[in-house]
Amino acid sequence: MSRLRFSMVENAIARKAQPVDLPDGRPTEYFGSAVFNKKTMQKYLPSAAYSELLDTMNNHTQLTRSLADSVAYGMKQWAIDMGATHYTHWFQPLTGGTAEKHDAFLEFNSEGLPIEQFSGSLLSQQEGDASSFPNGGTRSTFEARGYSAWDPTSPAFVVEDTLCIPTIFVSYNGDSLDFKTPLLKSIEQVSRAATAVCKFFDPTVKRVNSFLGWEQEYFLVDEGLWAARPDLVLTGRTLMGHESSKNQQLEDHYFGAIPQRVVAFMRDLEFECWRLGIPAKTRHNEVAPGQFEIAPIFENANLANDHNLLLMTLMSKVASKHNFKVLLHEKPFKGINGSGKHCNWSLGIDGGKNLFSPGKTDKDNLRFVSFMAATLDAVFKHNALLKATIASATNAHRLGANEAPPAIISVFLGRQIADLFSAIEKSETEETVHVEGKSGFRLSLQHIPELFIDNTDRNRTSPFAFTGNRFEFRAVGSTANCAGVITAINTAVAQSLVEFKNEVDILISNGVSTPKAVYTIARKFIVRSKAIHFDGNGYSDEWKKEAKERGLDVESSVPLILDNYMSKSTIDLFESMGVMNRTELQTRAEVYWETYTKKIQIEARVMGDLVMNHILPVASSYQAELLDKVFKIRTIFDQDKAAEIGERDMSLIEKISKHIAATRMHVDKMVAARRVANIIDNEREKAIKYHDTVAPEIENAREFVDKLELIVDNERWTLPKYRELLFLR
Ligand code: ADP
Ligand code: MG
Repeated sequence: MSRLRFSMVENAIARKAQPVDLPDGRPTEYFGSAVFNKKTMQKYLPSAAYSELLDTMNNHTQLTRSLADSVAYGMKQWAIDMGATHYTHWFQPLTGGTAEKHDAFLEFNSEGLPIEQFSGSLLSQQEGDASSFPNGGTRSTFEARGYSAWDPTSPAFVVEDTLCIPTIFVSYNGDSLDFKTPLLKSIEQVSRAATAVCKFFDPTVKRVNSFLGWEQEYFLVDEGLWAARPDLVLTGRTLMGHESSKNQQLEDHYFGAIPQRVVAFMRDLEFECWRLGIPAKTRHNEVAPGQFEIAPIFENANLANDHNLLLMTLMSKVASKHNFKVLLHEKPFKGINGSGKHCNWSLGIDGGKNLFSPGKTDKDNLRFVSFMAATLDAVFKHNALLKATIASATNAHRLGANEAPPAIISVFLGRQIADLFSAIEKSETEETVHVEGKSGFRLSLQHIPELFIDNTDRNRTSPFAFTGNRFEFRAVGSTANCAGVITAINTAVAQSLVEFKNEVDILISNGVSTPKAVYTIARKFIVRSKAIHFDGNGYSDEWKKEAKERGLDVESSVPLILDNYMSKSTIDLFESMGVMNRTELQTRAEVYWETYTKKIQIEARVMGDLVMNHILPVASSYQAELLDKVFKIRTIFDQDKAAEIGERDMSLIEKISKHIAATRMHVDKMVAARRVANIIDNEREKAIKYHDTVAPEIENAREFVDKLELIVDNERWTLPKYRELLFLR
């Protein structure tokens, strides 16, 4: 490496692992110490308030004003003891991430003395100007007020000097402007519908929970190198950069030894997680160099999702202490794997059984088949909507490429469940079913573990895979708020379960026995949703063709995929389940189109700037140096000799000219396309235009920039290269 580049790269890298200040004691001792959890509540709340709050948290009962006051008082005392001076309502706007506005506890009493104040009403609700948060233009400014309201089912916590209170965020007329509100509603709906179905098997079931276990993938890069890449800083991904000669082809990074500096970062991060009650469990290298994963123990979906959002914020803070930058973008680097956030989803009876685990008795197994059937039915009916919930400008780089789930939603079942379902399909009459006895029809599934060892490789290509006792939705992007997909899954499954129950009830009222009725309807659902089941290679071209023939959604343009928020089946689904109304869905579609456009717009601008003030000046100055050299060769040697000696330089000069011209041409086209797109008012049309005309030119220009990178003198190249960014030492 040339001296200049060497010092640039070396200066940027803090080679030594940072020391980590781990607290005294074991993780189990400090786990949740920054959370207003049961232990602290018991200490800071009067016992009546404590049990009333527990009841609200567990049974979702209505919260009274006096309870809010008691809780606010205790919560404030606790937060002050933790060193907090401020509080904030912490919510999840549709832009992604979380939002907070800090207020100090400081107030003056009637004598003008400073006091710390925090009341039940401040805890429960806050009014704010919502107009600066995206709302898809569905509210006019006179209604710009937004309200955040306390979610008592997710505990408050202290970060640095601030008490954070998880809240929902709704508009003046109650429409949700966030991810949490519909998620909470979907959790209630699927609980209600699943409980009703569970009662066919066990009348004592009271509540069903939906669970989420996310796996967060991310890249780490040296902060100093990151700062020298305007594209990473402004867009989160590299808009240019030739592939490194070595990247992931040796497959030596996955599960490999974790570099020391990264281990120090992970330990620090885990410590922060544990203090905040995030049950971080697994850490490992991912497939690409510089790529890693963190996964917790699964929790109820609302809490798990809050924890994921909190984690994403923590990651950036902790990384900076270690001179790293965390890249959460789905595709920071071309040519190597991108990052996803697998969402492991399941339903379970309160305090007990997982509804996607086959059991020991035939009754358990019939219940298992029923819930599987309803889920398949839901994913089949709403496959296009599910794809919409994971579609974004950033995740688009992952989907459809040969390294991530394809842009078609299908369900992987694995051989054993697939065999079971085809047996069910063939067995119409209850005589051959014998759900009461273990013999007859084999509903007992003792060999499940075997199946998953067999198929782990193949099911990597499936966007929605059954993995033994849960479904793993793998198409979700690493920056996503998981609530988007979980809300859709919960609601769709709730709808199928309601229908399932109604149809079983009709058979029962006609004198059919309960097991036979359940079996008949489960079979019906399995048969009618068969098209969603695909265990083959999801990356293959044949699958794209076949999926289309099966009637699955194969659209790959993000703006068009987003149309599914406004399709009839989506509106019917969310309205009939009471999770979102048409306006709320419209809001989402508009915000997502707008976000799509803005992301591409920013990328296009950054690309234009970088080309004009980094790439082209560097390439032409190198070209000028070569020209100078050739000129001198010609003055010294005769024509033939000069041609011979200068041949390589001449051809480089020509190549550089060609690549510069091509780069300029695509940048010009990109700028022209942007001008046309920018005057379109309609967000959908604008996003489509950006997708069809601007985005491709960014990639086209890149192709020639990357060619220039390969031939231009290394010393002159101002941007850190892939080989420098990717291999952490
Ligand atoms: P893998 O990489 O093999 O898919 P991981 O251990 O990395 O597995 O992550 C699996 C995730 O699934 C973890 O968060 C785990 O807690 C979660 N999980 C396990 N069982 C369930 C379940 N029944 N419901 C939801 N999530 C679950
Ligand atoms: Mg996984």
